[in-house]
Amino acid sequence: MQIHVRNRLVGSPTMLAVVLGCLCVNFAVASPADAVSEDQLFDIIEVLASDEFEGRMPGTAGGDKTENYLASLWRAFGVQPANDGSFFQQVDLAGIQQVSASDAVFSNGTDKLVLENRVDIVFSGGQVAEVGRLDASDVVFVGYGISAPEYDWDDYAGIDVRGKTVIALWGDPGIHNKPGDERRFKGRAATIHAMSTFKAEQAAKHGAAGILLVHEEALAGWPWAVAIQGLPSIKYKIMDDVDTNKSPIIGGLLSIDAAKRLFAYAGKDLEALSIAAREKGFQGVALGLAVDMSVANELSEVTSSNVVGIVPGSKRPDEYVVYTAHWDHVGVKPELEGDNIFNGAMDNATGTAGISEIARIIASMETAPDRSVVFIATTAEEQGLLGAFYYTSNPLFPLASTAGVFNMDAHYPYGETNGMIVVGLGNSELEQYIVDAAVAIGRETYANPAPEQGAFYRSDHYPFAKAGVPSIYAVGAPLPREGDTPTRQEELMAEYGMTKYHKPGDEIEPDTWDLAGIVQDVSVYLQAGLALANSPSWPNWYRDNEFRATRDAMRP
Ligand SMILES: [Zn+2]
Repeated sequence: MQIHVRNRLVGSPTMLAVVLGCLCVNFAVASPADAVSEDQLFDIIEVLASDEFEGRMPGTAGGDKTENYLASLWRAFGVQPANDGSFFQQVDLAGIQQVSASDAVFSNGTDKLVLENRVDIVFSGGQVAEVGRLDASDVVFVGYGISAPEYDWDDYAGIDVRGKTVIALWGDPGIHNKPGDERRFKGRAATIHAMSTFKAEQAAKHGAAGILLVHEEALAGWPWAVAIQGLPSIKYKIMDDVDTNKSPIIGGLLSIDAAKRLFAYAGKDLEALSIAAREKGFQGVALGLAVDMSVANELSEVTSSNVVGIVPGSKRPDEYVVYTAHWDHVGVKPELEGDNIFNGAMDNATGTAGISEIARIIASMETAPDRSVVFIATTAEEQGLLGAFYYTSNPLFPLASTAGVFNMDAHYPYGETNGMIVVGLGNSELEQYIVDAAVAIGRETYANPAPEQGAFYRSDHYPFAKAGVPSIYAVGAPLPREGDTPTRQEELMAEYGMTKYHKPGDEIEPDTWDLAGIVQDVSVYLQAGLALANSPSWPNWYRDNEFRATRDAMRP
């Protein structure tokens, strides 16, 4: 079957279908309809990324337009609604809009150090409340702020942080391993403990009233400017989770420069303490400072929806293969001058168009794949993967009968590529489906070159993984190579990360856009999903993987 899959996607699909017809082992899959259309993809991206859709913020007119557009598009493709006759799975959200925030004023007992709001510090987390306020909260440096019994690591050991404000480093200690040295955590690959929301949960569990994370561009993968203006202006949480208080009262990010100044003010050396924090047994350090800071929020309740459609399987309709892509982005920022619409053309109109195109192709097949194929355009991914988490808590189709999840998020519109990054390569048998389909179109797959950024935990495949379901995310990108003069394509990609990602500039640019690479990505996803949907296999997590036990418990 892979031979058949392999050849369909190279060059002109129509012609190859003719040439290769006689070679096909499984001809049923090979209807001419399974050619990915660049025009279709572009048309969908153009609608989603239009100013009319206002940056697709859940709970806004632009968000509602997006949901309705996708439902009617999928209906027109012949995809069936998946939720009792409806394409919508409603997700109730609590909205927190910060209306004002103080500076953070630190005191050592004799004088004060002021870290300016939205210059040095950004209050980006915290509890759902109209006012969050800390007065003279003692400040404690807790290293990475990680309690991880599985790594025999506890930055909170022997230190009382109740009612205090903790300062924690970005990432986890594994990042400082030398290549090949796996002695801390997972080596350079970030673990869940590196994620800011997880750190906030840990801090809250230990009774901390505030948490400030030190931003490091190389580890975050995005510059400090994104913290200042690239986060959504309304922050959502799943309504069902609001009462559980998983966050300290106030949460925020400190720029690295501000953190250095703060530690110097406390008479400490951030660099030296950071190095000490990499070693097991590190002891948290009271900085001898107290901080005043407060935020005022406007609270709201909004409803948004995952858009969910299905093409029922022809042989085993009670088994499922799932495609996901988040439809949402971060909306409009009225406070910005000039263009203030965050169109999210690449992030994630591309992926949403991608799964829509796959839906069109699969729905138009003469014979549907053996297993049912489910399409989920998730809401509120930018808010912490909320739509996907909601789905895994309230699945429309049993997770135990879901064979695998293919997630698309932010695909590069800069032409064909000879490679494909598989995020979290080495996690599960599901990757073989992506690898085979990629090789079939002449692409080589490789592991994420920046695993320290924790991409595995930063898109919608993660909630499925956490729930045990094998899930995967891959994106076309040129193979790493020798030499230091970047190609035009590499330049465009780097430039996207620095100047367009989560900025108003993430929009369609006719001069630089070339969807050939996205056509490749979608083709790989299509063929990988078809292969799984036509197979009786249940790919599992590899034996030593952190999600294996959950899957085994679901499918004894
Ligand atoms: Zn995204």
